[in-house]
Amino acid sequence: QRKPLVAANWKMNGSKALVDDMTHSLAVVDFTAVDVMICPPATLLPLFPQGTAIALGGQNLSQYDAGAYTGELSASLLLQAGARYVLVGHSERRSLFSEDDDILLAKVQQAVATGLIPVFCVGENLQQRQQEKTTEVLAKQLAAVYASHPELLAKSVIAYEPVWAIGTGEAATPEQAQQAHAAIRQLLARYDTVAASKVRILYGGSVNASNAAALFNEADIDGGLVGGASLKPAEFLEICRSAK
Ligand code: 13P
Repeated sequence: QRKPLVAANWKMNGSKALVDDMTHSLAVVDFTAVDVMICPPATLLPLFPQGTAIALGGQNLSQYDAGAYTGELSASLLLQAGARYVLVGHSERRSLFSEDDDILLAKVQQAVATGLIPVFCVGENLQQRQQEKTTEVLAKQLAAVYASHPELLAKSVIAYEPVWAIGTGEAATPEQAQQAHAAIRQLLARYDTVAASKVRILYGGSVNASNAAALFNEADIDGGLVGGASLKPAEFLEICRSAK
């Protein structure tokens, strides 16, 4: 059985004060029932107290090991700052920073080689959904990493984030999300059947305290990747408690 994971993506938000408020708020979570992970801006990673059950993640990493790459952060630097996970291929990285399939494969490889768990993000945009190309888009995004390197799947978490649901207040319905998650699991089974049945697939896109429970209740939804609502300690706690 897959243990749910609720992850926060703070994007370029947050502060030392939010680190403290969030840590305090999440202290009452039943961590035997749910894994909780926060991806703050990387400079805040070392400000989280050690020895809590809250896992940390980066929002991005370099595809390179080390060297003359001004402004970049390697997997190893993130690990040393306290991260155990790292987001790879978030739609904002794909669209605003032109990260393509080749770069994203290199990033997943860097993460796994260094001992970070990549949270590989996929999802269709509105036009692709309206043209009924959702499964095709997901297949292509997943194939970019796992077709050539199926061994990476057992080391990964997948996040399904339909672009039209990110930051819009319009989450996918539980039925829409379940359908996409089931398709993702089926597509991944082509590469590694056992790993596909075990991999955690998170839903992201306007998750909030009101819709989380219904989404997390679906068979193939193993938790969430939460943006805006993860900046509010009380609401994020509520979302963590919705997972079981
Ligand atoms: P919102 O929860 O703000 O829609 O953001 C989702 C997201 O992009 C998480 O990675």
